[in-house]
Amino acid sequence: MENIPLARPTELYDAYLFDLDGTIYLGEELLPGARRMIEELRRRDIPVRFLSNNPTKAPTQYAEKLERLGLPTALPDIANTVATMVNFLLANHRDAVVFPIAEQPLIDALEAAGIAMSDDPARIDIVIASYDRGFDYRKLQIAFDAIWFHKRAFLVATNPDRYCPFPGGRGEPDCAAIVAAIEACTGTTCRQIVGKPDPNMVTQALAGLDVDPARCVMVGDRLGTDIELAVRASMPSAMTLTGDSTLDDVAAAPVDHRPTYILERIDQLIPAHVWDELGWTADETHA
Ligand SMILES: [Mg+2]
Repeated sequence: MENIPLARPTELYDAYLFDLDGTIYLGEELLPGARRMIEELRRRDIPVRFLSNNPTKAPTQYAEKLERLGLPTALPDIANTVATMVNFLLANHRDAVVFPIAEQPLIDALEAAGIAMSDDPARIDIVIASYDRGFDYRKLQIAFDAIWFHKRAFLVATNPDRYCPFPGGRGEPDCAAIVAAIEACTGTTCRQIVGKPDPNMVTQALAGLDVDPARCVMVGDRLGTDIELAVRASMPSAMTLTGDSTLDDVAAAPVDHRPTYILERIDQLIPAHVWDELGWTADETHA
């Protein structure tokens, strides 16, 4: 297989978008170099935004987690698929009755936005699949009846991830498994996935910033979501090798779907000449 070299940026960019799971932290630990890298960007007044495909937490829960890990972050600097799904529905299907296959944070956000919800298949216009650890046969039957029997509802999803990475190489089945279950029994095809790599996520994350996406770097650990988002939004990208995707995955991808940069640790986003100025070394294991 083709040998893919590591490549780090030689300049600082105007803004940075970061994935969270597998990029900034894994489980309850910041990944090596994450804190000093974010602190250095902030010290230079370079905007930093976080975006996650995970709809099982509200943005407030991400803010709490980042604070607990030593990276206090303002709520507007965090975008995830709870907010993206609500915004998508408000913009395109404000009057639809939805059936969310979802955990409480998305249900609460739909309720707060005034979106009608029902588990009566005869009334459902849109079935929302998400990363739902309470998924069961009852929910599958309601989705099936709304889509296949009543021929009324269509399917949308929060995110395309197959699994959510955990420490120690473990993981949990994610939204793709639930989409697949519904598609398998109904024969339908999911009409819209609002999370990464949908470029909507970039629009939402950069809202309020006067920056050219071509001067922003999207940083993440997954080729199919984080890096593909950068490709679709015409942004440079950096892939960290601390989460899901590997150098072999990059080698297997078409050249125009590969990351601009590939990093062994996330603080390599800061160019080498700045490391020298700061006296940083790579053998430091602290965050
Ligand atoms: Mg990730």
